Amino acid sequence: MPSPLLERMKTLCSLPGPPGHEGAVRDAIAEMVKDSASELRRDPIGNLIARHEAHEAATHILLECHMDEVGFVVTNVEAGGAIRFEKVGLVADSIFPGREVALLTLDGQLHRGVVNVRSGHLQSLQGQEHPGVDNMWIDLGATDDAPIRALGIEAGTPGVFHSPFVQLPGGAWKSKAVDNRSGCALCVEAFINTAGSLSDRLRLSAAFCAQEEIGGRGASVLSVDETGVDKPILAIVLDNVPSDGPGRSDARGSKIGAGPVLRRYDHQPTSLYGYITPPELIQWVKDVASDAHVPLQEDVFVGTFLDSATLSKSRPGGLPAVPINMPRRYSHSPVETFMESDLEAMAALIGALLRSAAEGGAPDLRRDYLSSSDA
Ligand SMILES: [Zn+2]
Repeated sequence: MPSPLLERMKTLCSLPGPPGHEGAVRDAIAEMVKDSASELRRDPIGNLIARHEAHEAATHILLECHMDEVGFVVTNVEAGGAIRFEKVGLVADSIFPGREVALLTLDGQLHRGVVNVRSGHLQSLQGQEHPGVDNMWIDLGATDDAPIRALGIEAGTPGVFHSPFVQLPGGAWKSKAVDNRSGCALCVEAFINTAGSLSDRLRLSAAFCAQEEIGGRGASVLSVDETGVDKPILAIVLDNVPSDGPGRSDARGSKIGAGPVLRRYDHQPTSLYGYITPPELIQWVKDVASDAHVPLQEDVFVGTFLDSATLSKSRPGGLPAVPINMPRRYSHSPVETFMESDLEAMAALIGALLRSAAEGGAPDLRRDYLSSSDA
């Protein structure tokens, strides 16, 4: 029997949320948290920010996750009905041939299509084909472009993979958009639970950010200065990390079923984005995980970055962040695969961190060297 948390994640994974078109996901999350929020607002870029009422002296923590998923964007609808596209986010070209996809038009409707794949009969005769996306197209089953244009599909129309949320026989679950609807579901769960139990001692804000997959854009402009009270002392960033499959290892050591992954360092040399998690926050998470008996993995990942990279610079003075990721196989594909035990362990760790913060255990990295208390 799936847990309420898994059900929430399933609901969110089924919705389309390519970068810049997160509306369906944002509206669903707003509906989930509205009864627990004293403020619930969308900002101009599309971030959703929820806040609790809390005592003014309460420690303020920000929970952050991104709502968007990797996908693609239409570049051209050709006269014969071929829909040309480009990738949005870090997706391998080899993922696309033969896949089911869905195009999202401005009226909010999804239109199912398939990506072309050269006939197996011909590949067996003429050699295996490994096309780039510039040699692919999406096929909506039309014989010319008129019915496609009539649906409102044109250059700029976004799309996502079509891949239902199902449990595999070995126990793991697979879906599109595990990255990062898992983070969204966890953020919602923590926000709702904290509203009922910790609000006299903890001020919790939750930010569901837009456009992470194209460079942490939503988090880069998130304003957490609008509370009118103390700013958050730190952010807990919830996302996913590539993890090992049962065959050849293509991750950096993290495994599904082995618990949350604390990101210590990341950097993408081509974009120069990255983040070094402060040692005080690393120690805090390790201590809390140990006390709560939650298994914890740690990783260093060169070649990627998270919203922590841009969130850390998103307000005057910056915001310290600690990224905690759920391990999942086959990242940025329609078959992202994860274990429910890792989702539950993430929830347990987040709950323990928030209880620690409510008890004054979260590190505040600010220090006045001249004040009497520090002298
Ligand atoms: Zn992500």
